[in-house]
Amino acid sequence: MDRDEVRRKLEFYRDLGIRELHVRAAPRTEAVPVTVPAVVEALAPAAVPQKVEVPAPPPMLSMTPDDDSLPGILEDIGDCTRCKLHRGRTNLVFGVGNPQAKLVFVGEGPGADEDAQGIPFVGRAGQLLTQMIEGTAAKEGIPVRRPDVYICNVVKCRPPENRTPEPDEMQTCGQFLFRQLMAIQPRAICALGSTAAKALLGTKDGVMKLRGRWHKWRDVPLMVTYHPSYLLRAYNVQAKREAWEDLKKVLHFVYD
Ligand code: SF4
Repeated sequence: MDRDEVRRKLEFYRDLGIRELHVRAAPRTEAVPVTVPAVVEALAPAAVPQKVEVPAPPPMLSMTPDDDSLPGILEDIGDCTRCKLHRGRTNLVFGVGNPQAKLVFVGEGPGADEDAQGIPFVGRAGQLLTQMIEGTAAKEGIPVRRPDVYICNVVKCRPPENRTPEPDEMQTCGQFLFRQLMAIQPRAICALGSTAAKALLGTKDGVMKLRGRWHKWRDVPLMVTYHPSYLLRAYNVQAKREAWEDLKKVLHFVYD
């Protein structure tokens, strides 16, 4: 890949809001962090006077938007130690579902059950999410089951004591979420809870303010709704009703 191609790819990632990428020079070598805006600037033609030695472009072997794929992203993640969340994990929780899904659900991060099994949304909140997807779809006459959608989280390793992921963890792991979404190219995204909304929309607003209407991640319509673990609390009857309404809207939009 020549330097112009590398620059174009990096500009693409920079425009997505990705500030740092971890890349490998070759398969199974250690990933090194690359600050995207700085390298784009270094590679810009105007910043390259003749006779000045230009730094070698960073390795981008499997980072191209054209050939990115879920298995390629998983391979890049590898035995990831890019942020401190790796210290407490049993299993990395990448994502599950249809790699060509029309609808992707994004949660916050793995809990204890997910960490133990390496699969997102398999605990009580996960069972509720499955019921919400399949129950709402059945009621609305939409033939969709959980394996038809794709489900993942902002961070792939369990935060200690199920705490909210910290900004640096979301930033570091968010590059993989963005790449997953680009590889899948869904018709819509459903962000579950405020952490997912924050990661995808860059907003500080809470779910109550954001839910019930369409936003966009890049060009992809995005609906924010409550995280199922919030809905499990007994007093959240109204929130449950609203989440079902949100989901109905999403399912009709995607599958009608
Ligand atoms: S949370 Fe993401 S970036 Fe952090 S160690 Fe796990 S996979 Fe790597």
